[in-house]
Amino acid sequence: MALIVQKYGGTSVGSVERIEAVAEKIIKFREQGDDIVVVVSAMSGETNRLTALAQEIMESPTPREMDVLLSTGEQVTIALLCMALEKRGYGARSFTGGQVRILTDESHTKARIKEIDGSRIHAQLEQGNIVVVAGFQGVDELGNITTLGRGGSDTTGVALAAALDADECQIYTDVKGVYTTDPRVVPEARLLSSITFEEMLELASLGAKVLQIRSVEFAGKYKVPLRVLSTFEEGPGTLISLEEDSEMEDPAIAGIAFERDEAKLTVAGVPDVPGMAYKVIGPVSDAGIEVDVIVQNAAEDGTNDITFTVKRAECGRAYKILQDAAVSLGAKEVVQDKKVCKVSLVGVGMRSHAGIASKMFKALAEENINIQIITTSEIKISVVIEEKYLELAVRALHSAFNLGDPESAAESN
Ligand code: ADP
Ligand code: ASP
Ligand code: MG
Repeated sequence: MALIVQKYGGTSVGSVERIEAVAEKIIKFREQGDDIVVVVSAMSGETNRLTALAQEIMESPTPREMDVLLSTGEQVTIALLCMALEKRGYGARSFTGGQVRILTDESHTKARIKEIDGSRIHAQLEQGNIVVVAGFQGVDELGNITTLGRGGSDTTGVALAAALDADECQIYTDVKGVYTTDPRVVPEARLLSSITFEEMLELASLGAKVLQIRSVEFAGKYKVPLRVLSTFEEGPGTLISLEEDSEMEDPAIAGIAFERDEAKLTVAGVPDVPGMAYKVIGPVSDAGIEVDVIVQNAAEDGTNDITFTVKRAECGRAYKILQDAAVSLGAKEVVQDKKVCKVSLVGVGMRSHAGIASKMFKALAEENINIQIITTSEIKISVVIEEKYLELAVRALHSAFNLGDPESAAESN
């Protein structure tokens, strides 16, 4: 008898009918004799709806109260799913993150899991029950409710699988698995039967929201066999493979990820003396704003321009901080551009294939897309471009690198 952790995302539990269908699916697995622990998200749109309610009251509610609010979405779905299972004659027991005791740090809205107590879950499984756990939430040492960041139910799923020493963690979603890129942007995207852990980690960190990055980190750290599959269609999905398979073909590019909501800030005319990059970036990151791609260019008058990107939602705050910093540094001006995005190619094959970057730049040039910033690492190349070219760039690169499946266009629900 195996222990399987299954996570169902928002679309999969988006209505009462879908919750009933998920119950039927779980029962099929149960009937095969396996122990099942289920993690569910809130119904699709619910977390956004709750966020909008909060914002009707104030622009920046305290993170603690946001967590109390947002965690209610998942509490609804655990109860409804247990009812649907019980209606069908199966014993089921729901648990909030706090009831399991998914212990996190105190960073509200982006908490990290520190420890999971598996004892209540094991006790329920021993009694033959199906266990249903609320994704995305935990509690800190003082019992305050915390949440794990958007998409955090994936992380609950993988972390529970690690803590319970499950045989597999299955992430059920609204597409058939991990594709070469988001199939909603490129319908010809190809479903990958497997992808290396390293590539999945890059894709997730560069914007492919099919898995939250922390969930991939957990899978790697605790060696959790992880698979992404469709809730709605049968199929093997995509295995996140922990070992690089030497038999596996080694294409240069595994996939393309993109991030839409980026913004670019430039501090122009920064004196060319030591310590300036620190004085520009330091106050921004001290304010808890994540700084992404950074470049420094020398201007003709001997000063430097320092440019970097942040999440668009944080641009206004970063801009204010930089304006203050610019005055004290004697820099010329601060310029913000809220209409940029980032497109990235990812592949472990880049280590052994030459010419990837030039091929990428050629494909973008052919579409007349201006590249504003370029950044590379061993297995990825990212470019920052104007946001309106995002779809065009992703499609052009997907076809330039022949990533598509010519036989069958990807279907999504
Ligand atoms: P869930 O609610 O099930 O967690 P998400 O919306 O968080 O689902 O993630 C699934 C979505 O991720 C898909 O519907 C798809 O649009 C998007 N996505 C982005 N990149 C990829 C990719 N490379 N492969 C598959 N899906 C992707
Ligand atoms: N409900 C949360 C969100 O929408 C967590 C999740 O779905 O994974 O981000
Ligand atoms: Mg998700």
